[in-house]
Amino acid sequence: MWGNGDMALEIIRIPVLSDNYVWLVHEAASGETMVVDPAVADPVLAQAQARGWTITQIWNTHWHPDHTGGNAQIKAATGCIITGPAAEAARIPTLDIQVTGGDIVRLGDAEAAVIDVPAHTAGHIAFHFASEKAAFVGDTLFAMGCGRLFEGTAAQMYDNMRKLEALGDDTAVYCAHEYTQGNGRFALSVEPDNAALIERMAAVDQMRARGQATVPTNIALERATNPFMRASSIAELAARRAAKDKA
Ligand code: ZN
Ligand code: FE
Repeated sequence: MWGNGDMALEIIRIPVLSDNYVWLVHEAASGETMVVDPAVADPVLAQAQARGWTITQIWNTHWHPDHTGGNAQIKAATGCIITGPAAEAARIPTLDIQVTGGDIVRLGDAEAAVIDVPAHTAGHIAFHFASEKAAFVGDTLFAMGCGRLFEGTAAQMYDNMRKLEALGDDTAVYCAHEYTQGNGRFALSVEPDNAALIERMAAVDQMRARGQATVPTNIALERATNPFMRASSIAELAARRAAKDKA
């Protein structure tokens, strides 16, 4: 869908459940096809089949059922290999390969670095294809938002924001939920005079009114508009996260 020109990967967005995005990633040279965080199996298998692709891998960012619920059925249907966070292996019984920050995972000729981003869950990881300028971040970074701190701290999430912004402004960010409009409303309550934020929300409101997806986002947009990436201290991020949880 966005994979073209010099990009080696074709990336397809599959909306499932109420607001999840599953990402189907195809590497043409090898013919490999990978799924990031399959919440469910049927729509993912159908999208792959419609394109004549066979799923060879699943990559999980964290153990939550809306990211792993399709693992077993897709593996049974395709024999694919499942890679996910070592720290959450006990909670992802379908895992074949355990990885941690600094490891490299491969989809055909394309290499992704594993980044540790604990906080939403204790072992949450992200996958970064530097050559493609693409990062799959699960529930750590959202458009104008971040994941809830279920198993970690504001200090960890603050550190995660530093790791992800360091990927560079032109890095596309593939997050796992369409939370953009609600996040943007909260962001405006934090920074009502942020011109980039006002402009982005106007565009987001129009896209949502037309039923369009607002993801992927990118690091430049998040640095300009995301109140969690823009928090200037751990305490400020913690206060914003607590306020958002109550909003
Ligand atoms: Zn989650
Ligand atoms: Fe989720």
